Amino acid sequence: MSKHPTPKKKMSKARSKRRYASFKTKAQRKLVKIATLVTCPSCGSKCVAHTACPDCGKYRGHQIIDKKKKIDKITKIKA
Ligand SMILES: [Zn+2]
Repeated sequence: MSKHPTPKKKMSKARSKRRYASFKTKAQRKLVKIATLVTCPSCGSKCVAHTACPDCGKYRGHQIIDKKKKIDKITKIKA
């Protein structure tokens, strides 16, 4: 006798493929729930819903992020 449980019958390719196909659709549904992309009304680029647009910095017609200001990125460490 085998020590661990063994399947009684061989599972068909179609049956296992059908099962894995449902996993794929489940993962896709989860991704849709994580982030909803909407088109920005002012610049037309894709951005995450309920957040300021990263391209123009506007949210519901108000300027939230100042795009004119240049943020200095630290590229070199001064000794
Ligand atoms: Zn925008």
